[in-house]
Amino acid sequence: SKQLGKNRCQFYSQDMQEVARLRVQIEAELRVAVERRQFVLYYQPIIDARSGSVNGAEALVRWQHPMRGLVAPDEFIAIAEDTGLILPIGAWVLNEALRQANEWLVQGLPPLRIAVNVSGVQFREQGLLELIAQASRKPGFDRIKLVLEITESVLMQSSDATETLMREIGKLGVNYSLDDFGTGYSSLSYLKRFPVDHVKIDRSFVSDCVDDKSDALLVEAIINMAHSLGLKVTAEGVETDSQREFLRARHCDYIQGYLVSEPLPADEFRILALRYQAD
Ligand code: C2E
Ligand code: CA
Ligand code: CA
Ligand code: CA
Repeated sequence: SKQLGKNRCQFYSQDMQEVARLRVQIEAELRVAVERRQFVLYYQPIIDARSGSVNGAEALVRWQHPMRGLVAPDEFIAIAEDTGLILPIGAWVLNEALRQANEWLVQGLPPLRIAVNVSGVQFREQGLLELIAQASRKPGFDRIKLVLEITESVLMQSSDATETLMREIGKLGVNYSLDDFGTGYSSLSYLKRFPVDHVKIDRSFVSDCVDDKSDALLVEAIINMAHSLGLKVTAEGVETDSQREFLRARHCDYIQGYLVSEPLPADEFRILALRYQAD
């Protein structure tokens, strides 16, 4: 009825006010979090699909909120991007991931690929080159393989300047991985134009690849296409043995997901990496 519609509308606008209020609060708290460095990195292993040994780690940021505990990135990255706070957060993430990777080297782990998520906002700033140039002069960098994970939207919104920036950063020995592949307006031309050497198949395709015929075909097509362009492939969100078998049979290069491990604190990651090496 009309009455119901009106009530709904009212509830809706109250919800919107609540959402807006919460956003302002998170934004204010996020500023404090940046000043006080209330962030921590977790590391999820990326394993070789054939040998099962750990090939690398993806660094994933969490916010150590004084009242709310560990806050997942999905709850604050978008706000950080809108407010520009992603720039200091992203800089911290990059430096911390590289510091940790060097510490693992010192502790006796073999050199690993360390993957860091980079927001499109960071890519529209020239500061990214200087940030990575500075990082590249720190100890251990020559033995660490830094991979920047970018999404298709970065490439879609990109200009010649982005392409130049990517190539300049690439000259420092940095590789690029195209994240969440298949979810955006994937275009083969991006893969040809930009210096990307790796794609990550999005979890949404991997999770149903064993049961859903069209997802299976899609995953297969992405792997074959990537390989024919000379790119390596990681499957994200692998949770079951049958998914791993499916992917291995189709020559997927790397696997990441809860089947191997959830993202771990640095010390737990180190122990797991040693164990997987010994096997
Ligand atoms: P992403 O880059 O696609 O990262 C993978 C996400 O999937 C992670 O969530 C990871 O914990 C989760 N995941 C991994 N394996 C499985 C699995 O087998 N099953 C399921 N259900 N989930 C799995 P997380 O850590 O919550 O991160 C969410 C997103 O936040 C990331 O998605 C990334 O887009 C963003 N993010 C995380 N750290 C950073 C960062 O330092 N900078 C930026 N700009 N974004 C970040
Ligand atoms: Ca990622
Ligand atoms: Ca992803
Ligand atoms: Ca994602």
